[in-house]
Amino acid sequence: MSEQNFDIVVLGGGSGGYAAALRAVQLGFTVGLVEKGKLGGTCLHRGCIPTKALLHAAEVADVSRESSKFGVTTTFEGIDVAGVTAYREGIVASKFKGLQGLIKARGITVIEGEGRLVSPTTVQVGDDTIVGKNVILATGSYSRSLPGLELGGRVITSEQALELDFVPKKVAVLGGGVIGVEFASVWKSFGADVSIIEALPHLVPNEEESVSKQLERAFRKRGIEYTLGVRFQSVTQNDSGVVVTLENGATVEADLLLVAVGRGPSTAGLGFEEVGIEMDRGFVITDERLATNVPGVYAVGDIVPGLQLAHRGFQQGIFVAEEIAGQNPIIVEDVNIPKITYCDPEVASVGYTEAKAGEKFGADQVSSYEYSLGGNGKSAILGTTGSIKVVRVKDGPVVGVHMIGARVGELIGEGQLVVNWEAYPEDIAPLIHAHPTQNEALGEAFLALAGKPLHAL
Ligand SMILES: Cc1cc2nc3c(=O)[nH]c(=O)nc-3n(C[C@H](O)[C@H](O)[C@H](O)COP(=O)(O)OP(=O)(O)OC[C@H]3O[C@@H](n4cnc5c(N)ncnc54)[C@H](O)[C@@H]3O)c2cc1C
Repeated sequence: MSEQNFDIVVLGGGSGGYAAALRAVQLGFTVGLVEKGKLGGTCLHRGCIPTKALLHAAEVADVSRESSKFGVTTTFEGIDVAGVTAYREGIVASKFKGLQGLIKARGITVIEGEGRLVSPTTVQVGDDTIVGKNVILATGSYSRSLPGLELGGRVITSEQALELDFVPKKVAVLGGGVIGVEFASVWKSFGADVSIIEALPHLVPNEEESVSKQLERAFRKRGIEYTLGVRFQSVTQNDSGVVVTLENGATVEADLLLVAVGRGPSTAGLGFEEVGIEMDRGFVITDERLATNVPGVYAVGDIVPGLQLAHRGFQQGIFVAEEIAGQNPIIVEDVNIPKITYCDPEVASVGYTEAKAGEKFGADQVSSYEYSLGGNGKSAILGTTGSIKVVRVKDGPVVGVHMIGARVGELIGEGQLVVNWEAYPEDIAPLIHAHPTQNEALGEAFLALAGKPLHAL
C-alpha cells in the first residue's frame, strides 16, 4: 500500500493519454501515467499501425499480381500469413520499444495496473493511491456490436481479424465505415471473396458523396461486393460458416462475419459517474476545452464524443497539458481534423463536404472544383485514377478538401494546413507544387478554384 503524488495523473496510456503525459513533462509537470495493458493503446497494438502494415502487405500482393502492367515479370504465389504476421508484429514491437524508451527518458512515472477514479484528484490502482492536482481521463474505446448481435466464434471484431492465422475464403463485413472497408480491402488483396453490408446509402458515408461513389465503383471493379441501404437483421453460425440475414430478406454466406459498426467508450465501472462526472451513454462530456464538469478533471481521445482518431487524441492530449499550464492553446474543431481511410484506393479529407458547407455558409455562398487524377502525370505512372475536390466559400477561404486515389492520404497534410489557415485559393495559386507529383493535382484544383486552371478546362 502506497501513496504517490504528482502534478498530473493520466488514466490510460494510449494516443491521448501518452501525448498528454509527454507534453506535460515538457512543461515542467510531474506525471503519473496509469496503464493496465501496453503503452501505446489501441492505435499501436490493435489499430492504426498493425492494420496499416496489413494494408501495405496487401498492396505488395496487388503490385506483384499486376506487375506485368509495368513490364515487370513476377509470379504471385500467395500470402504467407505467418510471414505477414512476423512483419506486422516486428513493426509494432519496434514502435512499442521506442515509445517505452521515450516515456522513460522523459521522466514519466508509469504505474502498471487497472486504475479507478475514486475522487476528483485520486486514481486507485490495486492497493496504490495515485494523487494528482489534475487528472486526465484517457481510457479509450472497444469494438461495439449491435443489440442482439452476439460476438464470438465466427462473428469477430477487428481485434480477432488482426490475429487470424489464415486467409478466409469468404468474409462478410458488417459496416462500410473506415474499419470495415480497410479490412475488406486487405482480404480482397489477400485472395478472399468479400461482401460488405452497410445500412446507410453509401460506403464511407461520412465522406463527400462523389468520393463514396468513386470508392464504390473502384470496389466493384476489384470484385468487392457490397449491399447498401439495407440493415442487418440476424446471423447464425455453425462449424462451417455464418449466414447473415438482412432486413430485406437477402442472405450472405461466409466463413466469418467481421462486425465493424463503431467503437464504444471504455468507461464502464471506472468510477467516473460516482465522482460526479457528466456522462452520455458512456462517453465523457467535456466543454470545448476538454474540461469535465468536475474541476481539475479533463478527458481526451476516444472517450470524448466525436471523431475517434489517434491524431485527434494526440492533439487533445497536448491541448490539455497546455491548458493546465495556462497557455490557452487553440481549439481545433473536429471538422478540421484530417481523416484518411487506407483502403485501395485511399480516401482522404478535411473540412466540410460541399453539402455541409452549403448548410453552414449557404448553398449559394459555396463553390467547388473537382480535378480528375486522370489529368495528373504521377497518378498515371502509378496506374491510379480518382479525384481531388476542393470546396471554398465564394470570395472566401477553402473550407474542404476531399480526395480519392492511390496514396492520396499523404496529400492531406497540405489540405489540413490550407483549411486550418483559412487560405484563399488565390493565396495558394502562386505557390508551386513540384512536378511530377500527385500533390500537383491538389495545386491544379486550387488554381482552378482561383479561376486560372492550367491543365484543365
Ligand atoms: C482497427 C483499427 C484501426 C484504426 N486505424 C486508425 C488509423 O489508421 N488512424 C487513426 O488516426 N486512428 C485509427 N484508429 C483509431 C485509434 O486507434 C484510436 O482513435 C486511438 O487509439 C484512441 O486513443 P485513446 O488514447 O483515446 O485510446 P486507446 O488507444 O484505446 O488507449 C486507451 C488506453 O487506456 C488503457 N486503459 C483503459 N482503461 C484503463 C484503466 N481503467 N486503467 C488503466 N489503463 C486503462 C488501455 O489499456 C489503453 O492502453 C483505429 C482503430 C482501430 C480499432
